[in-house]
Amino acid sequence: MNKDNNKMEEIVSLCKRRGFIFQGSEIYGGLAGTWDYGPYGVLLKENIKRAWIDRFVYGKFKMYQMDAAILMNPRAWEASGHVSGFSDPLVSCKKCKKRFRADHVDGDKCPECGGYLGEEKQFNMMFKTAIGASEDESAITYLRPETAGGMFVNFKNIVDSIHPKLPFGLAQIGKAFRNEIAPRDFIFRSREFEQMEIEFFVEEDEWEKYFEEFRIQMNEWINKDLRIEESEYSELDVPKDELAHYSKKTIDFEFEYPFGRAELYGLAYRTDFDLKSHGGASGQDLMIEDSENKKTVPHVIEPSFGMDRTVLAVLITHFMKDEMGEGGRVFLKLPVNLAPVKIAVFPLLKNKPELVEKAREIFDELRGEFKAVEFDDNGNVGKRYRRQDEIGTPFCVTVDFDTLEKDNRVTVRDRDTGSQERIEIEKLKEFFQTKFS
Ligand code: ATP
Repeated sequence: MNKDNNKMEEIVSLCKRRGFIFQGSEIYGGLAGTWDYGPYGVLLKENIKRAWIDRFVYGKFKMYQMDAAILMNPRAWEASGHVSGFSDPLVSCKKCKKRFRADHVDGDKCPECGGYLGEEKQFNMMFKTAIGASEDESAITYLRPETAGGMFVNFKNIVDSIHPKLPFGLAQIGKAFRNEIAPRDFIFRSREFEQMEIEFFVEEDEWEKYFEEFRIQMNEWINKDLRIEESEYSELDVPKDELAHYSKKTIDFEFEYPFGRAELYGLAYRTDFDLKSHGGASGQDLMIEDSENKKTVPHVIEPSFGMDRTVLAVLITHFMKDEMGEGGRVFLKLPVNLAPVKIAVFPLLKNKPELVEKAREIFDELRGEFKAVEFDDNGNVGKRYRRQDEIGTPFCVTVDFDTLEKDNRVTVRDRDTGSQERIEIEKLKEFFQTKFS
């Protein structure tokens, strides 16, 4: 594996230093596999969600959004096969007692201490919890291990309330929980994470057509919306003997992380497995009329996106260094649509009320128009540029004495080139509208 631990460490450290992502429960020593998003992390995620909704909900296909409960009737997880089958192979070291995923270690020796590994066992990754005051078996349910289930169990509600015709999809963004044996690599593999999933319902003989359509859309999402170069990821046709129990075809989109190539997203053809299983187990009619007015159980194409892996891939891709400024700099070359802050406005000096007042005025004006605008008067201008570069702000606007005394213009500085131009205050909105369009 091509390891670049340094880059991962620098990204983790930038995320903490600049308020993107913190270790979960850090002041108590943390909680393995959990991460907390700070102000800029939240904004970055919001922008990713917005872009995803724009492409997949308001895009090419008929799509409805869902927001289902995380807790579900446990019978749903029995029907979907998760209670019996959602497990990873587990091995424990006989010497140091550490636990590993059997498919992540080579041979029979512990990768940590060299001791012998014990027998392989299946470990169910669903988090169990108890509903209500009693804790007996009947109260047991699970935190959902994927968002998909909430969409399948609502298929009937959607058909009865919205009356869609095939093909159509349900899209959902929400938390999922997996008791991963070995959470690792920052937000790549955690125990609580977010997913953006689509269940797209089609007639059986059209599955290949829509599978291909979504394959193209997922590529466009990665290239055009996230601006990840084609050389940084690839598609892997999952071999038949490694397919999940419900799938006839799956493509994994694998990204080149600093710790090696690994899954970013999945695209699966789930056949009619889910609706048939839930229909059978619930005794409900989970059918819909096809184009010939015959009742049918539709087949499903499922594009599944991990939100946190998206955040990680975006940070890795756009994390840059160059020689600008004193001692060089680190910056996030985020596309404008993803940048948490689009414009930062500074008064040249914070102890000159007339500069501060003018900068505030411009800030209010731009914020009204572009929302994600920040006012910054900490330290000197060089320090402010450094901070804004590190959070990926594409433009900084500085109000100086010339603004007030001479030309009614401000300095607009470009994050990527460092170039500066003087722009008339009246033309500022228009200037940014053009830049952002
Ligand atoms: P892996 O093989 O890496 O465990 P998976 O094949 O089990 O992943 P899926 O069940 O296909 O993953 O889940 C859909 C998506 O959810 C994945 O493509 C990934 O982006 C995300 N995901 C899955 N598990 C995790 C996790 N533990 N932490 C963060 N994201 C995850």
